[in-house]
Amino acid sequence: MTQTILLTGGAGYIGSHTYVALIKSGYNVVIYDNFSNARADVPARLELITGAPVTVWRGDLLDGHSLNAVFAAHKIDAVIHFAAKKAVGESVRLPIDYFQTNITGLLALLEAMNTAGVHNLVYSSSATVYAETETLPIDEDAPLGFASPYAFTKLAGEQIMAQVAASNPAWAFGILRYFNPAGAHESGLIGEDPNGIPNNLLPYIAKVATGDLPALNIFGNDYPTPDGTGMRDYIHVEDLAQGHVLSLAALLAGKGGHLLNLGTGIGFSVMDMLQTYSRACGRDLPYVIAPRRDGDLAAYWADPARAQAVLGFTATRGLEDICTSSWNWVKRRGNMGTS
Ligand code: UDP
Repeated sequence: MTQTILLTGGAGYIGSHTYVALIKSGYNVVIYDNFSNARADVPARLELITGAPVTVWRGDLLDGHSLNAVFAAHKIDAVIHFAAKKAVGESVRLPIDYFQTNITGLLALLEAMNTAGVHNLVYSSSATVYAETETLPIDEDAPLGFASPYAFTKLAGEQIMAQVAASNPAWAFGILRYFNPAGAHESGLIGEDPNGIPNNLLPYIAKVATGDLPALNIFGNDYPTPDGTGMRDYIHVEDLAQGHVLSLAALLAGKGGHLLNLGTGIGFSVMDMLQTYSRACGRDLPYVIAPRRDGDLAAYWADPARAQAVLGFTATRGLEDICTSSWNWVKRRGNMGTS
């Protein structure tokens, strides 16, 4: 029988790509989203991509009545939990909001799941849970730490789940630590769409490419890296989505929980990204060298070996796919593909 997955935050950036990957793998999916950071037309776009109606439950994690109602209305087999706040800088200004949404929201979800007898959960974590290190690549046993309220909420979430798992063997958690998600769906119909001036590198470059911003500020070119700019592990969002499908399948197959990095294992610099994007959009994108950004590390990337061993997961898309898919998305944004 087809299994039904509840996707909290399923209208957001990573959630929407995971929705498509789940439908392609034959699951039923119910999206639970309050649309606080998602466009209202995402469900219509998902229908265009998948060719099937989308089930959306508009609700907030902190609304226990709504959460219990969605479990009562659908026979849910497992949950993938994306609904959370994710801007590091904002979390420093608004820590209480982050604790409410990311920690209280997780607790509300766990409670509703327990009440409904649903005990499989895939959780969005982040490489920000690792302490600052110069030992690369970063594997799952690397020391932990947090440099922002956002990172604290992700680490707290992991630790809450570890203790809940220890309380009852029925629970199984797939904890996925993302490195730097980037890129867009190959259809060009969904992608990252931050409000205002983006904080992250790829959406910022995308706005330079569309002419909405004049030039990229490169935050430091005197790091101890080959070209002096910061290096990160950029993972294509469609690869990341596939990682969630594999994590979910392992939980549903009764293989127990896991805690894994999702990355490529390769670091690329800010300059690599800018040059690759310039090729994708067909013109040299302007940049200026700016001071280092507070809190930034020179370089880090994942050790992806454990995700390969446990789930058979390997990222298959590279920097060029990331940049071409992003450009394909931003240049046609607002266009539903009918013209
Ligand atoms: N970066 C940059 N200019 C920008 C945004 C980011 O030079 O406008 C650099 C940043 O210093 C880091 C890399 O790009 O080396 C990735 O930054 P991002 O904010 O995307 O991710 P994170 O800092 O979380 O790894």
